[in-house]
Amino acid sequence: MDFRFTAQQEAFRQEVRDFLRSELGPDWRGGKTHEMFSREFSRKLGKKGWIGIGWPKEYGGLGRPHMDQLVFGEEMLYGRAPSAAHILAQNMVGPTLMNVGSEEHKKKFLPMILSGEVVFCLAYTEPQAGSDLASLQTNARAEGDYFIINGQKTFISFAGDADYGWIGVRTDPNAPKKHRGISIFIVDMKTPGITTRKLDTMFDHTLYEVFFDDAKVHKSCVVGQLNQGWYYITQALDHERVFMAATIAGYQRIFDEIVEYAKSTKRNGIPLSKDPIIRQKLSEMAIDLHAGRLLGYRLAWLLEQGIVPFSEASISKVFTSELEKRLGNLGMQVLGLYGQLQRGTPQAPYDGYLEWEYRFSPMQAVGGGANEIQRIIIAIAGLGLPR
Ligand SMILES: Cc1cc2nc3c(=O)[nH]c(=O)nc-3n(C[C@H](O)[C@H](O)[C@H](O)COP(=O)(O)OP(=O)(O)OC[C@H]3O[C@@H](n4cnc5c(N)ncnc54)[C@H](O)[C@@H]3O)c2cc1C
Repeated sequence: MDFRFTAQQEAFRQEVRDFLRSELGPDWRGGKTHEMFSREFSRKLGKKGWIGIGWPKEYGGLGRPHMDQLVFGEEMLYGRAPSAAHILAQNMVGPTLMNVGSEEHKKKFLPMILSGEVVFCLAYTEPQAGSDLASLQTNARAEGDYFIINGQKTFISFAGDADYGWIGVRTDPNAPKKHRGISIFIVDMKTPGITTRKLDTMFDHTLYEVFFDDAKVHKSCVVGQLNQGWYYITQALDHERVFMAATIAGYQRIFDEIVEYAKSTKRNGIPLSKDPIIRQKLSEMAIDLHAGRLLGYRLAWLLEQGIVPFSEASISKVFTSELEKRLGNLGMQVLGLYGQLQRGTPQAPYDGYLEWEYRFSPMQAVGGGANEIQRIIIAIAGLGLPR
Protein backbone atom coordinates (compact mmCIF):
# COMPACT_ATOMS: atom_id res chain seq x y z
CA MET A 1 0.00 0.00 0.00
CA ASP A 2 1.43 3.35 -1.03
CA PHE A 3 -0.29 6.54 0.12
CA ARG A 4 1.70 8.80 -2.21
CA PHE A 5 0.95 9.79 -5.78
CA THR A 6 3.80 9.28 -8.22
CA ALA A 7 6.06 12.18 -9.27
CA GLN A 8 4.40 11.99 -12.70
CA GLN A 9 0.93 12.29 -11.14
CA GLU A 10 2.01 15.24 -9.00
CA ALA A 11 3.42 16.92 -12.12
CA PHE A 12 0.13 16.29 -13.91
CA ARG A 13 -1.75 17.76 -10.92
CA GLN A 14 0.35 20.92 -11.18
CA GLU A 15 -0.22 21.11 -14.94
CA VAL A 16 -4.01 20.91 -14.47
CA ARG A 17 -3.90 23.45 -11.62
CA ASP A 18 -1.87 25.91 -13.73
CA PHE A 19 -4.20 25.46 -16.68
CA LEU A 20 -7.32 26.08 -14.60
CA ARG A 21 -5.79 29.14 -12.98
CA SER A 22 -4.78 30.65 -16.30
CA GLU A 23 -8.13 29.86 -17.96
CA LEU A 24 -10.47 30.77 -15.11
CA GLY A 25 -8.44 33.49 -13.39
CA PRO A 26 -7.48 33.76 -9.72
CA ASP A 27 -10.88 35.16 -8.63
CA TRP A 28 -12.98 32.37 -10.12
CA ARG A 29 -15.62 31.14 -7.65
CA GLY A 30 -17.80 28.83 -9.75
CA GLY A 31 -20.51 26.66 -8.27
CA LYS A 32 -23.78 27.80 -9.75
CA THR A 33 -25.30 25.91 -12.67
CA HIS A 34 -24.70 28.50 -15.35
CA GLU A 35 -21.04 28.79 -14.32
CA MET A 36 -20.49 25.05 -14.23
CA PHE A 37 -22.04 24.54 -17.69
CA SER A 38 -19.78 25.90 -20.41
CA ARG A 39 -19.53 24.38 -23.86
CA GLU A 40 -16.57 26.65 -24.55
CA PHE A 41 -14.64 25.36 -21.54
CA SER A 42 -15.47 21.73 -22.41
CA ARG A 43 -14.07 22.31 -25.90
CA LYS A 44 -10.85 23.65 -24.35
CA LEU A 45 -10.52 20.52 -22.21
CA GLY A 46 -11.27 18.44 -25.31
CA LYS A 47 -8.41 20.11 -27.19
CA LYS A 48 -6.02 19.12 -24.41
CA GLY A 49 -7.27 15.50 -24.52
CA TRP A 50 -8.54 15.82 -20.95
CA ILE A 51 -12.07 14.61 -21.60
CA GLY A 52 -10.77 11.14 -22.43
CA ILE A 53 -7.95 10.76 -19.92
CA GLY A 54 -8.98 7.22 -18.95
CA TRP A 55 -10.52 6.24 -22.29
CA PRO A 56 -8.60 3.59 -24.29
CA LYS A 57 -6.30 4.91 -27.01
CA GLU A 58 -8.11 2.92 -29.70
CA TYR A 59 -11.13 5.18 -29.14
CA GLY A 60 -9.11 8.38 -29.10
CA GLY A 61 -8.53 8.62 -25.35
CA LEU A 62 -5.19 9.05 -23.55
CA GLY A 63 -5.39 5.51 -22.11
CA ARG A 64 -4.07 6.68 -18.74
CA PRO A 65 -4.70 4.96 -15.39
CA HIS A 66 -7.71 5.61 -13.16
CA MET A 67 -5.44 7.32 -10.64
CA ASP A 68 -4.55 9.98 -13.25
CA GLN A 69 -8.23 10.51 -13.87
CA LEU A 70 -8.73 10.85 -10.12
CA VAL A 71 -5.98 13.48 -9.90
CA PHE A 72 -7.61 15.37 -12.75
CA GLY A 73 -11.07 15.12 -11.14
CA GLU A 74 -9.68 16.39 -7.82
CA GLU A 75 -8.18 19.47 -9.43
CA MET A 76 -11.34 20.18 -11.44
CA LEU A 77 -13.47 19.96 -8.30
CA TYR A 78 -11.08 21.89 -6.07
CA GLY A 79 -10.89 24.55 -8.78
CA ARG A 80 -14.72 24.51 -9.25
CA ALA A 81 -14.05 24.26 -12.96
CA PRO A 82 -16.98 23.89 -15.38
CA SER A 83 -17.52 20.27 -16.35
CA ALA A 84 -21.30 20.00 -16.59
CA ALA A 85 -21.45 20.25 -20.39
CA HIS A 86 -19.41 17.08 -20.97
CA ILE A 87 -19.41 15.09 -17.74
CA LEU A 88 -22.39 12.80 -18.44
CA ALA A 89 -21.16 12.05 -21.94
CA GLN A 90 -17.63 11.42 -20.69
CA ASN A 91 -18.56 9.22 -17.73
CA MET A 92 -21.71 7.43 -18.82
CA VAL A 93 -22.47 7.66 -22.53
CA GLY A 94 -18.97 7.19 -24.00
CA PRO A 95 -17.91 4.20 -21.85
CA THR A 96 -21.22 2.39 -22.49
CA LEU A 97 -20.96 2.96 -26.25
CA MET A 98 -17.39 1.64 -26.20
CA ASN A 99 -18.65 -1.53 -24.50
CA VAL A 100 -21.90 -2.24 -26.32
CA GLY A 101 -22.52 0.42 -28.99
CA SER A 102 -22.79 -0.23 -32.72
CA GLU A 103 -19.88 0.82 -34.97
CA GLU A 104 -22.14 3.56 -36.32
CA HIS A 105 -22.77 4.97 -32.82
CA LYS A 106 -19.10 4.74 -31.87
CA LYS A 107 -17.96 6.53 -35.04
CA LYS A 108 -20.56 9.23 -34.71
CA PHE A 109 -20.54 10.01 -30.98
CA LEU A 110 -17.16 9.13 -29.45
CA PRO A 111 -15.14 11.79 -31.34
CA MET A 112 -17.80 14.43 -30.58
CA ILE A 113 -17.69 13.57 -26.87
CA LEU A 114 -13.89 13.66 -26.74
CA SER A 115 -13.76 17.07 -28.37
CA GLY A 116 -16.37 18.51 -25.99
CA GLU A 117 -18.65 19.33 -28.92
CA VAL A 118 -21.77 17.54 -27.73
CA VAL A 119 -24.03 17.77 -24.70
CA PHE A 120 -26.03 14.77 -23.55
CA CYS A 121 -28.72 14.59 -20.92
CA LEU A 122 -29.49 11.31 -19.18
CA ALA A 123 -33.21 10.77 -18.86
CA TYR A 124 -34.14 7.87 -16.59
CA THR A 125 -36.22 9.22 -13.69
CA GLU A 126 -40.01 9.47 -14.07
CA PRO A 127 -42.73 10.76 -11.75
CA GLN A 128 -43.47 7.15 -10.69
CA ALA A 129 -39.99 5.68 -11.14
CA GLY A 130 -37.02 7.16 -9.27
CA SER A 131 -35.53 4.82 -6.70
CA ASP A 132 -37.53 2.01 -8.29
CA LEU A 133 -36.20 2.82 -11.75
CA ALA A 134 -37.13 -0.55 -13.28
CA SER A 135 -40.79 0.56 -13.06
CA LEU A 136 -40.29 3.22 -15.73
CA GLN A 137 -43.28 3.61 -18.05
CA THR A 138 -42.10 5.81 -20.94
CA ASN A 139 -42.60 3.46 -23.87
CA ALA A 140 -41.47 2.95 -27.46
CA ARG A 141 -43.74 1.18 -29.95
CA ALA A 142 -42.15 -0.30 -33.10
CA GLU A 143 -43.58 0.94 -36.41
CA GLY A 144 -41.63 -0.27 -39.45
CA ASP A 145 -38.12 1.17 -39.29
CA TYR A 146 -39.15 3.57 -36.53
CA PHE A 147 -40.16 3.70 -32.88
CA ILE A 148 -42.87 5.99 -31.53
CA ILE A 149 -42.03 7.20 -28.02
CA ASN A 150 -44.58 8.38 -25.44
CA GLY A 151 -44.20 9.25 -21.78
CA GLN A 152 -42.62 11.65 -19.31
CA LYS A 153 -39.28 12.01 -17.54
CA THR A 154 -38.61 14.29 -14.58
CA PHE A 155 -35.71 15.88 -12.63
CA ILE A 156 -33.45 15.67 -15.69
CA SER A 157 -30.28 17.76 -15.60
CA PHE A 158 -29.33 19.84 -18.66
CA ALA A 159 -32.27 18.58 -20.78
CA GLY A 160 -32.99 22.13 -21.97
CA ASP A 161 -29.40 22.55 -23.23
CA ALA A 162 -28.68 19.04 -24.46
CA ASP A 163 -28.16 18.09 -28.10
CA TYR A 164 -28.97 14.43 -27.42
CA GLY A 165 -30.91 12.52 -24.80
CA TRP A 166 -29.76 9.14 -23.49
CA ILE A 167 -33.12 7.77 -22.42
CA GLY A 168 -34.41 4.66 -20.71
CA VAL A 169 -37.59 3.40 -22.39
CA ARG A 170 -39.88 0.38 -22.02
CA THR A 171 -39.83 -1.61 -25.26
CA ASP A 172 -41.33 -4.88 -24.01
CA PRO A 173 -44.31 -4.32 -21.71
CA ASN A 174 -44.83 -8.10 -21.46
CA ALA A 175 -41.32 -9.02 -20.29
CA PRO A 176 -41.54 -11.52 -17.38
CA LYS A 177 -39.49 -9.21 -15.15
CA LYS A 178 -39.91 -5.45 -15.42
CA HIS A 179 -36.18 -4.70 -15.75
CA ARG A 180 -35.93 -6.98 -18.78
CA GLY A 181 -38.20 -4.93 -21.05
CA ILE A 182 -36.15 -1.73 -21.03
CA SER A 183 -33.98 -0.30 -23.84
CA ILE A 184 -31.70 2.71 -24.15
CA PHE A 185 -32.20 5.14 -27.01
CA ILE A 186 -30.10 8.07 -28.12
CA VAL A 187 -32.51 10.71 -29.36
CA ASP A 188 -31.94 14.09 -30.95
CA MET A 189 -33.53 16.51 -28.49
CA LYS A 190 -34.87 18.56 -31.42
CA THR A 191 -37.04 15.63 -32.59
CA PRO A 192 -40.66 16.77 -33.06
CA GLY A 193 -42.72 15.52 -30.10
CA ILE A 194 -39.95 16.07 -27.51
CA THR A 195 -40.47 19.08 -25.26
CA THR A 196 -38.96 20.23 -21.96
CA ARG A 197 -40.20 22.27 -19.02
CA LYS A 198 -38.06 23.86 -16.32
CA LEU A 199 -38.04 22.92 -12.63
CA ASP A 200 -36.19 25.48 -10.51
CA THR A 201 -34.52 24.12 -7.38
CA MET A 202 -33.56 25.88 -4.15
CA PHE A 203 -29.87 25.52 -5.08
CA ASP A 204 -30.21 27.45 -8.37
CA HIS A 205 -29.82 24.32 -10.49
CA THR A 206 -32.45 24.06 -13.20
CA LEU A 207 -33.81 20.58 -13.70
CA TYR A 208 -36.28 19.64 -16.42
CA GLU A 209 -39.32 17.58 -17.15
CA VAL A 210 -39.09 15.97 -20.59
CA PHE A 211 -42.25 15.03 -22.47
CA PHE A 212 -42.46 12.55 -25.34
CA ASP A 213 -45.63 12.87 -27.41
CA ASP A 214 -45.52 10.48 -30.37
CA ALA A 215 -41.84 11.30 -30.90
CA LYS A 216 -40.76 9.29 -33.96
CA VAL A 217 -37.16 8.05 -33.99
CA HIS A 218 -35.33 5.68 -36.31
CA LYS A 219 -34.58 2.18 -35.01
CA SER A 220 -30.85 2.97 -35.36
CA CYS A 221 -31.32 5.12 -32.23
CA VAL A 222 -31.40 1.97 -30.07
CA VAL A 223 -28.15 1.53 -28.11
CA GLY A 224 -26.72 -2.00 -28.27
CA GLN A 225 -29.47 -4.60 -28.16
CA LEU A 226 -33.15 -4.10 -27.67
CA ASN A 227 -34.42 -4.88 -24.13
CA GLN A 228 -30.89 -4.95 -22.65
CA GLY A 229 -31.14 -1.38 -21.40
CA TRP A 230 -31.23 -2.24 -17.70
CA TYR A 231 -27.77 -3.80 -17.91
CA TYR A 232 -26.44 -0.77 -19.77
CA ILE A 233 -27.90 1.60 -17.18
CA THR A 234 -26.24 -0.23 -14.30
CA GLN A 235 -22.97 -0.53 -16.25
CA ALA A 236 -22.99 3.20 -16.98
CA LEU A 237 -23.47 3.96 -13.31
CA ASP A 238 -20.31 1.93 -12.60
CA HIS A 239 -18.33 4.26 -14.85
CA GLU A 240 -19.47 7.25 -12.85
CA ARG A 241 -17.66 5.96 -9.80
CA VAL A 242 -14.16 7.10 -10.56
CA PHE A 243 -15.50 10.61 -10.78
CA MET A 244 -17.26 10.11 -7.45
CA ALA A 245 -13.90 9.10 -6.00
CA ALA A 246 -12.72 12.67 -6.43
CA THR A 247 -15.80 14.31 -4.84
CA ILE A 248 -14.13 15.12 -1.54
CA ALA A 249 -11.74 17.58 -3.25
CA GLY A 250 -14.63 20.01 -3.78
CA TYR A 251 -15.51 19.82 -0.08
CA GLN A 252 -11.87 20.26 0.88
CA ARG A 253 -11.86 23.64 -0.90
CA ILE A 254 -14.91 24.77 1.10
CA PHE A 255 -13.30 23.54 4.32
CA ASP A 256 -10.03 25.31 3.53
CA GLU A 257 -11.98 28.54 3.14
CA ILE A 258 -13.78 28.02 6.46
CA VAL A 259 -10.43 27.40 8.21
CA GLU A 260 -8.93 30.46 6.55
CA TYR A 261 -11.90 32.51 7.73
CA ALA A 262 -11.50 31.23 11.30
CA LYS A 263 -7.82 32.19 11.24
CA SER A 264 -8.38 35.66 9.84
CA THR A 265 -11.53 36.78 11.70
CA LYS A 266 -12.05 38.12 15.22
CA ARG A 267 -15.36 37.91 17.05
CA ASN A 268 -15.79 39.91 20.27
CA GLY A 269 -12.13 40.82 19.98
CA ILE A 270 -10.94 37.20 20.01
CA PRO A 271 -9.79 35.32 16.89
CA LEU A 272 -12.32 32.64 15.92
CA SER A 273 -9.42 30.23 15.65
CA LYS A 274 -8.98 30.44 19.45
CA ASP A 275 -12.60 29.54 20.22
CA PRO A 276 -12.45 26.00 21.69
CA ILE A 277 -15.83 24.99 20.24
CA ILE A 278 -14.88 26.10 16.73
CA ARG A 279 -11.50 24.36 16.99
CA GLN A 280 -13.22 21.10 17.99
CA LYS A 281 -15.68 21.39 15.10
CA LEU A 282 -12.93 22.11 12.58
CA SER A 283 -10.89 19.14 13.81
CA GLU A 284 -13.91 16.83 13.55
CA MET A 285 -14.48 17.93 9.96
CA ALA A 286 -10.78 17.46 9.13
CA ILE A 287 -11.12 13.83 10.32
CA ASP A 288 -14.25 13.32 8.21
CA LEU A 289 -12.54 14.73 5.13
CA HIS A 290 -9.55 12.42 5.57
CA ALA A 291 -11.85 9.42 5.93
CA GLY A 292 -13.93 10.48 2.90
CA ARG A 293 -10.84 10.97 0.75
CA LEU A 294 -9.56 7.50 1.59
CA LEU A 295 -12.94 5.95 0.76
CA GLY A 296 -12.70 7.66 -2.63
CA TYR A 297 -9.12 6.55 -3.21
CA ARG A 298 -10.21 2.99 -2.52
CA LEU A 299 -12.73 3.23 -5.38
CA ALA A 300 -10.05 4.44 -7.78
CA TRP A 301 -7.69 1.71 -6.55
CA LEU A 302 -10.32 -1.02 -7.04
CA LEU A 303 -10.97 0.20 -10.58
CA GLU A 304 -7.21 0.18 -11.18
CA GLN A 305 -7.21 -3.52 -10.23
CA GLY A 306 -10.00 -4.17 -12.75
CA ILE A 307 -12.62 -4.57 -10.00
CA VAL A 308 -15.87 -2.59 -10.32
CA PRO A 309 -16.68 -1.24 -6.85
CA PHE A 310 -20.27 -1.82 -5.83
CA SER A 311 -21.08 -1.65 -2.11
CA GLU A 312 -17.77 0.25 -1.69
CA ALA A 313 -19.16 2.95 -4.01
CA SER A 314 -22.38 3.11 -1.99
CA ILE A 315 -20.40 3.45 1.27
CA SER A 316 -18.41 6.33 -0.22
CA LYS A 317 -21.53 8.01 -1.64
CA VAL A 318 -23.45 7.88 1.66
CA PHE A 319 -20.47 9.09 3.69
CA THR A 320 -19.49 11.98 1.45
CA SER A 321 -23.03 13.23 0.77
CA GLU A 322 -23.83 13.28 4.49
CA LEU A 323 -20.49 14.90 5.21
CA GLU A 324 -21.49 17.67 2.80
CA LYS A 325 -24.53 18.49 4.91
CA ARG A 326 -22.36 18.70 8.04
CA LEU A 327 -19.96 20.91 6.12
CA GLY A 328 -22.78 23.30 5.15
CA ASN A 329 -23.80 23.52 8.82
CA LEU A 330 -20.19 24.08 9.90
CA GLY A 331 -19.88 26.97 7.45
CA MET A 332 -23.02 28.58 8.86
CA GLN A 333 -21.72 28.18 12.41
CA VAL A 334 -18.20 29.53 11.83
CA LEU A 335 -19.23 32.40 9.59
CA GLY A 336 -22.33 33.24 11.62
CA LEU A 337 -24.72 35.61 9.85
CA TYR A 338 -21.99 36.50 7.35
CA GLY A 339 -22.37 32.95 6.06
CA GLN A 340 -25.96 33.71 5.14
CA LEU A 341 -25.11 36.65 2.90
CA GLN A 342 -25.70 35.96 -0.76
CA ARG A 343 -23.34 36.35 -3.66
CA GLY A 344 -23.08 39.92 -4.84
CA THR A 345 -23.38 41.32 -1.29
CA PRO A 346 -20.05 43.12 -0.69
CA GLN A 347 -19.81 41.90 2.93
CA ALA A 348 -20.34 38.23 1.95
CA PRO A 349 -17.15 36.22 2.64
CA TYR A 350 -15.96 34.21 -0.37
CA ASP A 351 -18.56 36.01 -2.45
CA GLY A 352 -21.42 34.16 -0.75
CA TYR A 353 -20.25 30.66 -1.69
CA LEU A 354 -21.10 29.27 1.76
CA GLU A 355 -24.68 30.52 1.56
CA TRP A 356 -25.09 28.69 -1.76
CA GLU A 357 -23.35 25.57 -0.48
CA TYR A 358 -25.76 25.40 2.47
CA ARG A 359 -28.69 25.34 0.03
CA PHE A 360 -26.92 22.89 -2.24
CA SER A 361 -25.73 20.43 0.42
CA PRO A 362 -28.92 18.33 0.87
CA MET A 363 -29.00 17.52 -2.85
CA GLN A 364 -26.32 14.82 -2.98
CA ALA A 365 -28.21 12.59 -0.56
CA VAL A 366 -30.94 12.17 -3.21
CA GLY A 367 -29.26 12.78 -6.58
CA GLY A 368 -27.40 9.83 -8.10
CA GLY A 369 -29.53 7.35 -6.13
CA ALA A 370 -31.03 8.14 -2.70
CA ASN A 371 -28.92 7.26 0.34
CA GLU A 372 -31.59 4.89 1.67
CA ILE A 373 -31.19 2.86 -1.52
CA GLN A 374 -27.40 2.94 -1.11
CA ARG A 375 -27.84 1.55 2.41
CA ILE A 376 -29.98 -1.27 1.01
CA ILE A 377 -27.14 -2.05 -1.45
CA ILE A 378 -24.59 -2.03 1.41
CA ALA A 379 -26.80 -4.41 3.42
CA ILE A 380 -27.26 -6.88 0.56
CA ALA A 381 -24.04 -6.65 -1.48
CA GLY A 382 -21.68 -5.59 1.31
CA LEU A 383 -22.97 -7.50 4.32
CA GLY A 384 -24.67 -10.41 2.57
CA LEU A 385 -27.98 -9.75 4.35
CA PRO A 386 -31.06 -11.33 2.72
CA ARG A 387 -32.96 -9.26 0.11
C1 LIG B 1 -29.78 17.67 -8.65
C2 LIG B 1 -30.41 16.44 -9.23
C3 LIG B 1 -30.13 16.09 -10.53
C4 LIG B 1 -30.75 14.98 -11.11
N1 LIG B 1 -30.47 14.69 -12.42
C5 LIG B 1 -31.04 13.60 -12.99
C6 LIG B 1 -30.78 13.28 -14.36
O1 LIG B 1 -30.02 13.97 -15.04
N2 LIG B 1 -31.38 12.20 -14.91
C7 LIG B 1 -32.24 11.40 -14.18
O2 LIG B 1 -32.74 10.43 -14.74
N3 LIG B 1 -32.52 11.67 -12.88
C8 LIG B 1 -31.96 12.76 -12.27
N4 LIG B 1 -32.23 13.07 -10.96
C9 LIG B 1 -33.22 12.29 -10.25
C10 LIG B 1 -32.63 11.34 -9.22
O3 LIG B 1 -31.93 10.30 -9.84
C11 LIG B 1 -33.79 10.85 -8.36
O4 LIG B 1 -34.24 11.98 -7.63
C12 LIG B 1 -33.41 9.75 -7.41
O5 LIG B 1 -33.10 8.56 -8.08
C13 LIG B 1 -34.56 9.46 -6.40
O6 LIG B 1 -35.74 9.26 -7.08
P1 LIG B 1 -37.06 10.12 -6.71
O7 LIG B 1 -36.69 11.56 -6.70
O8 LIG B 1 -38.16 9.69 -7.60
O9 LIG B 1 -37.36 9.76 -5.22
P2 LIG B 1 -38.22 8.54 -4.67
O10 LIG B 1 -37.73 7.28 -5.24
O11 LIG B 1 -39.65 8.87 -4.82
O12 LIG B 1 -37.82 8.61 -3.18
C14 LIG B 1 -38.33 9.66 -2.32
C15 LIG B 1 -37.80 9.42 -0.94
O13 LIG B 1 -38.16 8.12 -0.49
C16 LIG B 1 -37.01 7.38 -0.09
N5 LIG B 1 -37.12 5.97 -0.55
C17 LIG B 1 -37.47 5.55 -1.77
N6 LIG B 1 -37.44 4.19 -1.84
C18 LIG B 1 -37.04 3.77 -0.62
C19 LIG B 1 -36.78 2.47 -0.06
N7 LIG B 1 -36.93 1.35 -0.80
N8 LIG B 1 -36.39 2.41 1.23
C20 LIG B 1 -36.23 3.54 1.97
N9 LIG B 1 -36.46 4.79 1.50
C21 LIG B 1 -36.85 4.90 0.21
C22 LIG B 1 -35.83 8.07 -0.78
O14 LIG B 1 -34.68 7.96 -0.02
C23 LIG B 1 -36.28 9.50 -0.91
O15 LIG B 1 -35.84 10.27 0.17
C24 LIG B 1 -31.62 14.18 -10.34
C25 LIG B 1 -31.89 14.52 -8.99
C26 LIG B 1 -31.30 15.64 -8.44
C27 LIG B 1 -31.59 15.98 -7.01
